[in-house]
Amino acid sequence: MPYLTAPEDLATLLGGQPSYRADQLRHWLYQTPVLDLDEMTNLPASLRAGLAPLWPFTVEEQQEADGGRTIKWLFRAPDGAAIEAVLMGYPSRVTLCISSQVGCAMGCTFCATGQFGFERHLSAGEIIAQVAYAKAHLRDHPMPGSPQRLGNVVFMGMGEPLANYGPVREAIRRMVDVMDMSARSITVSTVGFLPGMLKLADEPWPVTLALSLHAADDDLRQRLVPLNRRYPIDDLIDAAAAFQRTKGRRVTIEWTLMQGVNDTPDQARALASIAAELRAHVNVIALNPTPLSAERPPTKQRVDEFVSRVVAAGANVTLRDTRGQGIDAACGQLRARKEAKPG
Ligand code: SAH
Ligand code: SF4
Repeated sequence: MPYLTAPEDLATLLGGQPSYRADQLRHWLYQTPVLDLDEMTNLPASLRAGLAPLWPFTVEEQQEADGGRTIKWLFRAPDGAAIEAVLMGYPSRVTLCISSQVGCAMGCTFCATGQFGFERHLSAGEIIAQVAYAKAHLRDHPMPGSPQRLGNVVFMGMGEPLANYGPVREAIRRMVDVMDMSARSITVSTVGFLPGMLKLADEPWPVTLALSLHAADDDLRQRLVPLNRRYPIDDLIDAAAAFQRTKGRRVTIEWTLMQGVNDTPDQARALASIAAELRAHVNVIALNPTPLSAERPPTKQRVDEFVSRVVAAGANVTLRDTRGQGIDAACGQLRARKEAKPG
């Protein structure tokens, strides 16, 4: 499973082979990923056989929606861990949403992953293999009406990336240094894991930081996001401002809209004022309902009203479409359907 070895150490997998063989392998794994070892045509068959299996997981399920413009994979690691990734095609770009953990310890009430609890961290190899798999898939199966190149990677699948810092950092390093992806096209989404936000600000890469805020006051936020008791909103705003200062990158605020919870005029005004303070861009998305939560998405009209209020108060807002409604595409939902209910 060569993705579990650092790209600089690949020679260790190849025995006494000359060093150009490791370069060739690195090329197939990172620059031009292929779905099958047999496509690594310039490597001798005996060498390829020694590298099998290529992927650190099997593809348990591949679902398509939105006319082939959304593809969701459920990968299965040899220890039984489920890993989800979603590929989304748009006219100007293709974005991959990847997982950083199996499950999540943060317990946000509205999130299917949070409802399952934490199982384990993903390794750097398991994270980067999701990116490589999507790139390889895209080469063989272009998405209708989208570029064939993987443009953006977002850490918005299962898990809290900044609570699995080392492996997430190494996966970002491989994307930027070995896959030649632009750091700007990589988004790390966090629920507000403060120590990780501070560390990320010290890294050399200008990645995009997305802060999943969802509520503009601590009372409401700690009902939705238990971690808010440890790292309250003011501290998160300070950390986001520091990130913006050192990186010169606009922070994004994520806001999952729930009917009667965080879709009120008061929340809209308070959100706009936080966004103005940070000069942040706001992404609003209507809740994708999950089986274990009573929260519901607002009506389309209420979503539009909320967005208009935030815009009128001076903030920069995008209403994100909920992709893959038919295929359980919200955070952790494919897995939630496949696995036994938590006890
Ligand atoms: N743990 C990180 C990244 C993974 S979650 C974080 O929380 O930011 C990625 C995004 O999906 C977050 O903004 C999260 O709030 C959102 N999300 C989780 N469950 C959702 C649901 N049921 N419907 C819509 N968005 C959801
Ligand atoms: Fe974890 Fe993010 Fe889901 Fe919260 S929203 S439980 S931090 S994955």
